[in-house]
Amino acid sequence: MKTQQFVVIGLGRFGASLSLELMDLGYEVLGIDRDEEVVNEWSDRLTHAVVADATDEEVLKSLGVRNFDCGIVAIGNDIQMSILAAILLKDLGLNTVVAKAISILHGRALEKLGVDRVIYPERDMGIRVAHQLVTPNLLDYIQLSKNYSIVEMTVPEFLHGTNVGDLHPRTQYGCSIVAIHREDGVIVAPTAMDQLRTGDIMVIIGSNDNIEEFEMMIN
Ligand code: ADP
Repeated sequence: MKTQQFVVIGLGRFGASLSLELMDLGYEVLGIDRDEEVVNEWSDRLTHAVVADATDEEVLKSLGVRNFDCGIVAIGNDIQMSILAAILLKDLGLNTVVAKAISILHGRALEKLGVDRVIYPERDMGIRVAHQLVTPNLLDYIQLSKNYSIVEMTVPEFLHGTNVGDLHPRTQYGCSIVAIHREDGVIVAPTAMDQLRTGDIMVIIGSNDNIEEFEMMIN
């Protein structure tokens, strides 16, 4: 399969960390920033990094940006630049355009331009950290819809040796344990007889209310 190629516009804190992670995952990344110092900082860690103004259509064309699979507009603070860069990426016909928004209005404008995915890193991280702070065993959570989520929780010591079935996740709490991660592997779709160990990570799916009740039981 062809390696997916990403072009990241803006190598600020968000753009740079996204680019480095994509590189670690084995993808090709072209980073573009108009600030030469920023480009120099990252150039030897990305496939290519160039100093360019992403609101200059001719420059984007000459860099072959239209041939990339996915473009990410990681400019946040300068909303005008973010919007102009997003319009150009859409017009160049990239398969997927993702853009970071710093406010709801900024996000709405990006959506109206046809951006395929708008992300709100600060807002989402704030929500995530709030959940982690109030639920000590909660490692991570993904919101599936307004009412449903998938969460990762560590198994506390007092549940060591308990069978999954004895927790009655489905009948008593209306949620399902879909996987258990432990050092020596992952148990996908555990059965009632699978035994929990301290430090295992349970992946649980359910309504937010049901998950909350389950969390209270294990906290
Ligand atoms: P963060 O909060 O993630 O650090 P910023 O919005 O502060 O994000 O940084 C955005 C980056 O985008 C900066 O490095 C800036 O130089 C770059 N940038 C802003 N406008 C343009 C543009 N028109 N073309 C290319 N890069 C840009």
